[in-house]
Amino acid sequence: MIVVMEPNALEEQIQKVVDRAKELGFQAIINKGEVQTVVALIGDETRLAGTDLLEEIEGVRRVERIQVPFRLASRTTQYADSVIEIAPGVKIGGAEDLVVMAGPCSVETEEGIIQTARAAKASGAKVLRGGAYKPRTAPRTFEGLGELGLKLLKQAKEETGLPIVTEIMDIRDVDKVCENADILQVGARNMQNFSMLNELGRVGKPVLLKRGMSATIDEWLLAAERIMHHGNSKVILCERGIRSFDAKYTRNVLDVSAIPVVQKLSHLPIIIDPSHGTGKTAFVRAMALAGVAAGANGLMIEIHPDPENALSDGPQSLKFDQFDVLMKEINQVYAVTKPLFCSKALAHK
Ligand code: PEP
Ligand code: MN
Repeated sequence: MIVVMEPNALEEQIQKVVDRAKELGFQAIINKGEVQTVVALIGDETRLAGTDLLEEIEGVRRVERIQVPFRLASRTTQYADSVIEIAPGVKIGGAEDLVVMAGPCSVETEEGIIQTARAAKASGAKVLRGGAYKPRTAPRTFEGLGELGLKLLKQAKEETGLPIVTEIMDIRDVDKVCENADILQVGARNMQNFSMLNELGRVGKPVLLKRGMSATIDEWLLAAERIMHHGNSKVILCERGIRSFDAKYTRNVLDVSAIPVVQKLSHLPIIIDPSHGTGKTAFVRAMALAGVAAGANGLMIEIHPDPENALSDGPQSLKFDQFDVLMKEINQVYAVTKPLFCSKALAHK
């Protein structure tokens, strides 16, 4: 950390900074310039939540942190990309092949989810998605089938062999969700549900952590850090679009630049969700391809046998034939970009 003093700072004010730094466990080195003094603090910054303990001292102009606030998730702690095993033979991260997760927004019927799982697999998806517990803002809308939805997902897995990713909405459901799913999804709305993140640190399964709709990249990585701090290092990040001022044409603004930014800052795998990112079927294709071209480790795409009659997110869901065509295009783009991104660490150095 660096403490920049005001040009007219008094000796005793500089000394106060040094004393406070020592109290906080830092070594302080004073650098006197012609105009201003800068105090360099050597030590582990991640123990401090903010910089206010130093900023409040009179004579201090500003305090700058040097270390990123997350440590376990940081590439400075672990340089090599994390590779996470989702299920036997399905790995995500680093130089592992792109993992496409596809399925309906919500699990609706037995026939629907089985049919969707078969179609997803036939087109090359490696993971089946489907919500059993749905976060819905408006009451009196479909909130998912709950436990029945989990059972149907399990059935679809038995039928096709595809591992399952599904959202956990309430930490009281953790055992049930763990029993039936291979990846636990934390939705955008729960990215800052800190007690849930703490608990997910104690489970042995991978967690798919969606970016909160107004979360900065640091906040998102700190949410990942929280899960890791509590014992679970299997965190997969998912960019799903952030809120912006222009919501006329797309539901969210898909932050494709989050891919190289996160890969520079962190060793964790990152996937793109072009469905929630755009909210419109017509735009899913371009954003899915953009995600692959930018070096994402995977994609999450909503598909449905009959999007017009879907109980949630029909307007952003692809029909099976559209998904099949898209998968071919994804593979074409991936064939070109894979060699460029075989090590995310090197690609974004
Ligand atoms: C979902 O994946 O269906 C979902 C609700 O996503 P998000 O949390 O990104 O809105
Ligand atoms: Mn959805």
